[in-house]
Amino acid sequence: MISNNKYKLLAKERINILFNQANEIFNKDPKLADRYVILARKIAMKARIGIPKELKRKFCKHCYSYLKPGFNCRVRTRDKKIIYYCMNCKKYTKIAIKRNIN
Ligand SMILES: [Zn+2]
Repeated sequence: MISNNKYKLLAKERINILFNQANEIFNKDPKLADRYVILARKIAMKARIGIPKELKRKFCKHCYSYLKPGFNCRVRTRDKKIIYYCMNCKKYTKIAIKRNIN
């Protein structure tokens, strides 16, 4: 039987792979990249884990589009926050910059 921790670890691994694939496919097929994000979220929910912090900034929290700066989103920093402007839904996603991580 697979342990809970192992299951979560596998889920995290799959999420990472999906985001990598989204990044690779984005130039060819942005819609498919969005589907990978949705899939990754479903895996995260099923495993009861969050999307890893480093990946949260790679998609729009409003419409769940895969975000690629310079292509479908603009990135600004202000007041120790990174602000992502999603060109798909025209909304902003703010991410606090935290230091001393890693
Ligand atoms: Zn959006």
